Amino acid sequence: MKLALHWQIAIGMLTGAVVGVSLNLLAGTRETTVAAARLPAGLTTLTISDSPNHVRLTWTTTDGNSGEAVVDGTRQTVGATATVDELARTQPEVADWLHRLGRSPARVVGEAAQKVGNLFLRLLQMVAVPLIITSLICGVTGLGDAASLGGMFLRTVLYYAATSAAAITVGLLAVNIFRPGLTGTAAPAATGPAPSGHSLGDLLFEQVERMIPTNPIAAIAESNFLSIIAFTLAFAIFAVIVGGKTLAAVRAAAEAGFEVMMAMTMAIIALAPLGVLCLMLFVTATQGPAVFASLFWYLLTVVVALATHALIVLPLILRFVARRDPFAYARAMSPALLTAFSSASSNGTLPLTMACVENRASIDNKVSSFVLPLGATINMDGTALYEAVAVLFIGQLYHGGVLPLEQQLIVAFTALLASVGAAGIPHAGLVMMVVILQAVGLPVEMQAIILAVDRVLDMCRTSVNVWSDSCGCAVVAALEQRAGVLSDRPT
Ligand code: ASP
Repeated sequence: MKLALHWQIAIGMLTGAVVGVSLNLLAGTRETTVAAARLPAGLTTLTISDSPNHVRLTWTTTDGNSGEAVVDGTRQTVGATATVDELARTQPEVADWLHRLGRSPARVVGEAAQKVGNLFLRLLQMVAVPLIITSLICGVTGLGDAASLGGMFLRTVLYYAATSAAAITVGLLAVNIFRPGLTGTAAPAATGPAPSGHSLGDLLFEQVERMIPTNPIAAIAESNFLSIIAFTLAFAIFAVIVGGKTLAAVRAAAEAGFEVMMAMTMAIIALAPLGVLCLMLFVTATQGPAVFASLFWYLLTVVVALATHALIVLPLILRFVARRDPFAYARAMSPALLTAFSSASSNGTLPLTMACVENRASIDNKVSSFVLPLGATINMDGTALYEAVAVLFIGQLYHGGVLPLEQQLIVAFTALLASVGAAGIPHAGLVMMVVILQAVGLPVEMQAIILAVDRVLDMCRTSVNVWSDSCGCAVVAALEQRAGVLSDRPT
């Protein structure tokens, strides 16, 4: 019997963590006095002390000068760098000495594992652009005749935008209250590019500019996600406006492409247990068990924020806008919500969501056939919230402090767009996070830290995505009834 993927990932994660932590504890420290025969040119002595969060190199040169380089995770020593990566940037020669002559066994194994884990991340990055393009075109062209659906389109999009914005706000509040990236001692503070001195207006305008690529093909080549999403949306909307044979051809091509990209993505995701094992091993072997302190608070932050949105914000909308009993509605939707949780795929759950909305919650098929497929692709409250929290968590780890407000607003804005662009498949949110990291100048490699716990958070956020789509059906149906488009709801 084959073990379900999420169990495989959990086992990979645990194995990586156990091996990494053991290595870190048993072989994380090494003291080396480099023998004369191996000394780099120009040096008369070199000693290297490598330990999980404190690396020190001291040397004397042939002309009698002495030197020292310190890496400490907390940057408490004057002149110290925070990470080995930072040392490699500021003093590449010294980092090379450490690399060649004095790494601890834990660091050697950890860095080898990182190389393999990075291959997995590259594969995910490889499928991101074609997956986004085909998924978005499928979602939008599924609308059919734009003119007759105009009113419903507007109400639906308004609901999507409002709830996603609410979800991101909840996420921002949670991550600023809990500050999960500033709790663990293992979290390396590093100087990244200093936040630019632009005003918020400038920064937001820059994002708007990036949404209008001067050359869409160049945007694709450069993986400029914001430009790609904006152009693809425009392309799909205009395909619907042109309609007829053209729309059918565009849709058929996008569906074919999407099917292939889905197959490819699923094949890559099958490698996730190994990728997670390697990345987890890297993180724990080089940073030690203290890293879990950060991850624990990160997990808690995401879960509390998702719960607040799903159990308070959406039920309030359901109660006061759709005038439905949230408990009864949640009961009606429970098969879809549980399937979303275990499959971590909005798309996979879609047929079940439609069946629940229509048969168990008595919502008109005209609404559900429109709101749900589009919602499965572009309305992802859970993903939007998760992206915002995850990126700000990485930002806290990387900068050793809370990101300034204007950067947080850019994260919020791009998280909204990223959630629109994410496909409704497992781990799509992780792929899309690159957009946001790129927007605020954070290193994509730092995703490695959160990858280990992505699956469990994916299950939670997918349930929230499906719950929001389901609530959207009730809201749009109620608004349509009030506008006189639909007859009263059957009892
Ligand atoms: N798995 C999510 C979904 O299908 C997308 C994500 O990764 O956030 O809705």
